[in-house]
Amino acid sequence: MKAMVLKQITSLDQNPNPVALIDLPIPLIKEREILIRNSACGVCHTELDEIEGRTPPPLFPVVLGHQIVGRVEKLGRRANKFKIGDRVGVGWIGSACGSCRFCSAGKENLCAEFKATGRDINGGYAQYTTIAEDFAYSIPEGFSDREAAPLLCAGAIGYRSLRLAEMEKGKNLGLIGFGASAHLVIQMAKYQYPRSNIFVFARTEKERNFARELGASWSGDIEDEPPEKLDCAIDTTPAWKPILEGLKNLDKGGRLVINAIRKEEKDKEIILMLDYSRHLWLEKEIKSVANVARRDVSEFLELAAKIPIRPEVQEFKLEDANQALLELKQKKIRGAKVLRID
Ligand SMILES: [Zn+2]
Ligand SMILES: [Zn+2]
Repeated sequence: MKAMVLKQITSLDQNPNPVALIDLPIPLIKEREILIRNSACGVCHTELDEIEGRTPPPLFPVVLGHQIVGRVEKLGRRANKFKIGDRVGVGWIGSACGSCRFCSAGKENLCAEFKATGRDINGGYAQYTTIAEDFAYSIPEGFSDREAAPLLCAGAIGYRSLRLAEMEKGKNLGLIGFGASAHLVIQMAKYQYPRSNIFVFARTEKERNFARELGASWSGDIEDEPPEKLDCAIDTTPAWKPILEGLKNLDKGGRLVINAIRKEEKDKEIILMLDYSRHLWLEKEIKSVANVARRDVSEFLELAAKIPIRPEVQEFKLEDANQALLELKQKKIRGAKVLRID
């Protein structure tokens, strides 16, 4: 099968072609696994973190990609959750132990044996993927394959962020950064909390306009002050400055959720400007989002079908994965990038 693999950690600035097309054997399935014939795979900012070593894969070469949509091609001997031909998806959570205290509490995203799709196990930049059937999801009707792909990560993690932000009716929500995840979060938040104000902070005028098109009550630059204080905010940027700006704009008792697997090194020193009275005093909180639990993925897919959410998608051929990654690195973003796999 065709696969785009990462062979080593590299820097996109110096190497514009970090993944390479190779021919791999179609993977074999274990008894509780399914083989998926992939048709679409989303391209995520986390792939940049893997490529550049901020969250490195343990083994090489590895097939990247954790927003996979395809059809069940083959069932393991004891796999019975799906039928051949069912449309299924796979997200970032590829497996977990199933028995530790985190797994037992539905927090398998924190399991010590958490394995990420497309990092710890091969992912979806390929014609086929295998996965334990318990870690695959039915894709509701109403979405095309390419529309469903970005829902599996950006959407599910956005859903988890909104949950962890403790968003409620009438609260003011801030979205800092307006990429693939935030443009889905705004649609969920508008649907679930129609009377709430949503303030969007983004670096480019294009993103700010896009935010207003999608229903933001206000949008401004990262440093701008919103018309009202925020009760909760979600930071999806790779930088440190938005943490300070977000905390500064929080109301008393407000919570900032950081939805980023790693922050980049570039502007790290700015965190030394953290001022206790200005940024944290009066019971302000910071919380990070780690991975996703299966509940986030399946609940979000249902919600997305109901709203309905139509992700803005930009399509690339599997062979052009490097182009998609490079554009993501250069922040040429309007909606989500998806690889089409024939
Ligand atoms: Zn992702
Ligand atoms: Zn576990």
